[in-house]
Amino acid sequence: MGEQTKYLLDESRIPKHWYNIQADLPKPLAPVLHPGTMKPVGPDDLAPLFPMALIMQEVTTEREIEIPEPVREIYRLWRPSPLYRAHRLEKALGTPAKIFYKYEGVSPAGSHKPNTAVAQAFYNREAGIRRLSTETGAGQWGSSLAFAGALFGIDVTVFQVRVSYDQKPYRRALMESYGARCLPSPSTETEYGRSVLAKRPDHPGSLGIAISEAVEIAAKNDDTKYALGSVLNHVLLHQTVVGLEAIEQMQMANAYPDVIVGCTGGGSNFAGITFPFIGLGLRGGSKPRIVAVEPAACPSLTRGKFAYDFGDTGHMTPLAKMHTLGSTFTPPGFHAGGLRYHGMAPLVSHLKDLNLIEATAYHQTECFAAGIQFARTEGILPAPEANHAVKGAIEEALRCKREGRSETILFNLCGHGHFDMAAYMAYSAGTLTDQSYSEQELAMALAGLPSVPEPA
Ligand SMILES: *Cc1c(COP(=O)(O)O)cnc(C)c1O
Repeated sequence: MGEQTKYLLDESRIPKHWYNIQADLPKPLAPVLHPGTMKPVGPDDLAPLFPMALIMQEVTTEREIEIPEPVREIYRLWRPSPLYRAHRLEKALGTPAKIFYKYEGVSPAGSHKPNTAVAQAFYNREAGIRRLSTETGAGQWGSSLAFAGALFGIDVTVFQVRVSYDQKPYRRALMESYGARCLPSPSTETEYGRSVLAKRPDHPGSLGIAISEAVEIAAKNDDTKYALGSVLNHVLLHQTVVGLEAIEQMQMANAYPDVIVGCTGGGSNFAGITFPFIGLGLRGGSKPRIVAVEPAACPSLTRGKFAYDFGDTGHMTPLAKMHTLGSTFTPPGFHAGGLRYHGMAPLVSHLKDLNLIEATAYHQTECFAAGIQFARTEGILPAPEANHAVKGAIEEALRCKREGRSETILFNLCGHGHFDMAAYMAYSAGTLTDQSYSEQELAMALAGLPSVPEPA
């Protein structure tokens, strides 16, 4: 076929700035509220949890934020990540569409998450912090922060959702290899964990509970801060290296996306690939369609409410306006652990509310089928989360085939599936089922949303 398959940038092309979409929003984000006073939080309210540099990145409207040289130095281990043209997948689908994907599985932890873990560890280290606490579901974020902590000499404590801690020992082994301490959540180390265990000693845990435990540890210890792997503005900001590189690589390929697809758990890898392109559109450039793909079993963007809610189950975090299923909602146990969160990043939610992005939901078995087709044509076995993006891209390519359109599709292949082989074994054995959440439980969780006075 003679056409190029892989687009690589030189190390010197690692972006020198992250892109802050808050500079270009047609309407500003709703403020984050203090849960006690219901007034907008100030930087000092967040100071027990985050270093000031990251707090300022939450609120700044400056368009370009410089990437510190020590962070770029570590990015060099795997960045710039490759962009591929999926010729073989296109052929298998018989589509006239061109499919491109940016591959973030080349990082040491195997996903996009080190893009922000390294930055967060750097700013905490600069502020003299020696310990970080965090939560993890399946373990991708925990292993990314453990990696970053090891490189900056920071002790990392990870509260891992108990079902994953018990069922997926390899991610825990990776975290411990990097020197982190990993505890099953709910744990006996925190007041909140003990209160959950008192009511239900065999509680399987949830991300919302693990966040409460990690926040409690940071709030109570002066030398400890908290790190979050998704959702917050500064996390999405750090992920924009993905899209900024992709813009250059699409130029190398002489192409521009008509559609960009990403999977959404908390929204960070989706924001990473799409925000720089959305920004070009908001500043007068062409506007590709932007499609978020979420699991049908945890459908915050497609079925949730755009309302103020807590980020955690223990209600220790501030209130943010976002698409939410309710902070007490426990999603069923499907395999894309990174997508099992009740809320969505406020920035992604805001763009959805402004109709600047679209959202769609698929069940896990159809996503695994897409991932297997991708592996058999392109050779890379995607993470279960990334399978949702693959499915979304394939659906767009099949639409192009039906409509006879040769559109250009770009998606974020946010991680590989090498730690998720149990899920693939279940899929091949035919024991993987499509879980539905309980409508009744969803209604109850949404009825329990905090009531917030309308701003004047
Ligand atoms: C954590 C994770 C996700 C979900 O988080 P986002 O913030 O939505 O990106 C998706 N894919 C992979 C591979 C992950 O590790």
